Amino acid sequence: MKSVLITGASRGIGRATALLAGGKGWSVGVNYTANLAAAEATAAAVRAAGGQAVVVKGDVSVEADVVAMFDATAAAFGGIDAVVINAGIIAPSLPLAEMSAERLRRMFDTNILGAYFVAREAARRMPLDKGGRGGSVVLLSSIAAKLGSPFDFVDYAGSKGAVDSLTVGLAKELGKQGVRVNAIRPGLIDTEIQAVSGDPERATRLGPSTPIGRAGQPEEIAEAIMFLLSDAASYITGAILDVSGGR
Ligand code: NDP
Repeated sequence: MKSVLITGASRGIGRATALLAGGKGWSVGVNYTANLAAAEATAAAVRAAGGQAVVVKGDVSVEADVVAMFDATAAAFGGIDAVVINAGIIAPSLPLAEMSAERLRRMFDTNILGAYFVAREAARRMPLDKGGRGGSVVLLSSIAAKLGSPFDFVDYAGSKGAVDSLTVGLAKELGKQGVRVNAIRPGLIDTEIQAVSGDPERATRLGPSTPIGRAGQPEEIAEAIMFLLSDAASYITGAILDVSGGR
């Protein structure tokens, strides 16, 4: 049975990915940072779907927390075959001119530094030449990295641009060591992240303006993540897949 650590698996896309992995018999490290009840509910659902689960608390922007979440997942399942670098935040819509330094720091700490800490830990443990068993890493970027998100979240968009660059570079570092690294750029997905942007109806409101005519569901992103994690994607690395309904 393969094991996967998913950051931010208590809710949204991370939760949907955990459930899909559980249904395929994977063991899942369910990371969260604040919402223990939601993380425990995800873990219970993974077990009900046929997988194993362990709940691991930790803030991805805190180095020691990231090390601890890898340790806990590896200890529970005897190693780690895959990592989904999914935890991320957004903030209320604002033009850049009105963004505080505190907001910018928090955004970049979580979405950039957090992604780099988790990716670095994967790079320290998973490569064949480091005693790992190889595997697959999937990062959650955003279509915002291409659109820029003017007047809404250019900070968030830039943080996901960094995720794109990390994906391309790390794929080249780890390719010969049995670790594939890819990213997904979701479009407008119906999760609780929209409420944090100050617009809980954002997905419903803007969905019809996308080429496909609706917002996406977290399960539709989870399917793409699981494909990239699977052996069916054995020759895919350094790829960034738009799953955005054509947006
Ligand atoms: P949600 O807000 O629904 O869930 C976020 C998850 O991340 C929660 O499990 C939360 O844990 C966790 N989290 C937040 N901050 C931290 C942290 N510092 N350390 C560890 N865990 C943390 O988000 P989505 O599911 O919508 O988004 C998941 C990813 O997909 C993000 O990277 C996001 O940027 C990206 N994405 C989402 C899109 C969308 O439209 N929904 C579009 C494009 C990209 P807790 O429950 O404990 O708070």
